[in-house]
Amino acid sequence: MTETIPHWLTKQAYLAPNQPAIELENGTTLTFLELKQKSQIFARKLASLGVKNGDHIGVLSTNDVRMIIAIHALSYLGSVGVLLNTRLTTQELNYQLRDAKVSIVLTLDDLYPKAEQLDVEIVRSFSMIDDCMEKKIPLVTELNLEDDFTIIYTSGTTGFPKGVVHTYGNHWWSAISSALNLGLSKEDKWLATLPMFHVGGLSIYLKSVIYGMPVMLFEKFHVGSVHHAIMHRGVTMISVVTIMVQRLMEKLGEEFYPEHFRCMLLGGGPAPKALLEKAKEKLVPVFQSYGMTETSSQIATLSPHDALNKVGSSGKPLVPAQLDIINPDHENIGEILVKGPMVTKGYFQNQAANEGSFKDGWLATGDLGYLDEEGFLYVVDRRKDLIISGGENIYPSEVESVIAGLEQVKEVGVVGVENEKWGQVPYAFIVPNDPKLDKEDVYHFLQTRLAAYKIPNEIYFVEELPRNASNKLVRSKLLNLMNK
Ligand code: ATP
Ligand code: MG
Repeated sequence: MTETIPHWLTKQAYLAPNQPAIELENGTTLTFLELKQKSQIFARKLASLGVKNGDHIGVLSTNDVRMIIAIHALSYLGSVGVLLNTRLTTQELNYQLRDAKVSIVLTLDDLYPKAEQLDVEIVRSFSMIDDCMEKKIPLVTELNLEDDFTIIYTSGTTGFPKGVVHTYGNHWWSAISSALNLGLSKEDKWLATLPMFHVGGLSIYLKSVIYGMPVMLFEKFHVGSVHHAIMHRGVTMISVVTIMVQRLMEKLGEEFYPEHFRCMLLGGGPAPKALLEKAKEKLVPVFQSYGMTETSSQIATLSPHDALNKVGSSGKPLVPAQLDIINPDHENIGEILVKGPMVTKGYFQNQAANEGSFKDGWLATGDLGYLDEEGFLYVVDRRKDLIISGGENIYPSEVESVIAGLEQVKEVGVVGVENEKWGQVPYAFIVPNDPKLDKEDVYHFLQTRLAAYKIPNEIYFVEELPRNASNKLVRSKLLNLMNK
């Protein structure tokens, strides 16, 4: 049996036509009815360009209300949106376009010159589409939960980015699971500043139409305006990454957030313990979460209630999700497996990756972690980055987090290097805050804090660390810095 639901935006425009769906930074709002109308008009214009059911359409845009309209428009045509990271180079984008079989790219007007360089047949800016005629065609009224809706590439932190296919059902279950976890309130307003081309950003706009909840759309993260919105504009929830929490906490200073601000959903990567403790002291409701492109947003979350005694944990899997640890070592650390209706069925036409990652409905995440005695998840590191030295496991993230405790260290990356005697040994690459910092200071600091075998054999001071377009540290490229 195929499972269908009414088109979620059409439904919300019917249930709550005058409820604001999107609120922009300048205060303008768009209701659910207006959002539906604009999306349907856009869909008919796209149809005149030849866009149809099953087509893969690239979307290259920073956060903008027209990007949301374009994505909903694609759903009205049954086309699949391939969401592109605007920070990628032309070459990187071309790889994804070819891999995802995209022939048409829609883009924000400002990015048109960049999009024009791409290796695709048709490129149109949103304004160019506005100038098209509408084609009178029947639009989608029901969503089949099995149908593909989006393709989003992984960040490419451990290798080539892989095209994750999300069905309507994946997004639906992600939104429902999150609501079961966080609850819904009529007062909710979710502030969105994360890029919409990442699944964590996109998911906010889908929750919006599924819940009937307004989203406050910020094109970029400006700490001042985000702080102001939380303090004075009725924001109750926000999705953030670690660096945003850091900046917001500095800005908060001696103040406290209003009581109606109930969730700061933290995802995308690890967060330093000290930061989480500071947030706890300031009664900031941080929900640490664990997830990946493949899980359509978070799949495990730690509530602020548990955060009190589980600092550093990413919580427990959401109601419809399962989590397992396989091949645990003597410390119970093993690879994290996940399963649930929000987990992708696979990477687009990538047999090797699919065979390597999926088994019996479970996805092997490539992440290492453990569950404590109460079943709380702790994510330790990426499996690919594990260093085995003289038979002992060294987790680079542990070494990094200890080194980062030195005040004169701005950023640090640790990677394993082949070694005849030990197999591998750790090397550290440090971006100092203070030019006076020398190796001896670092070794002196580490002596009492890390077991000898975890102390880096070499330390290099560098100007910056290699990061990908999602701003994640790419450890495999650290060694290139040795000769600089
Ligand atoms: P690629 O799969 O191409 O190497 P990527 O894994 O960085 O790139 P994303 O899907 O953007 O691509 O990121 C998901 C990853 O982020 C997770 O698999 C995990 O390694 C990391 N991550 C997410 N949440 C946490 C967390 N709470 N703690 C530690 N790491 C996390
Ligand atoms: Mg990954």
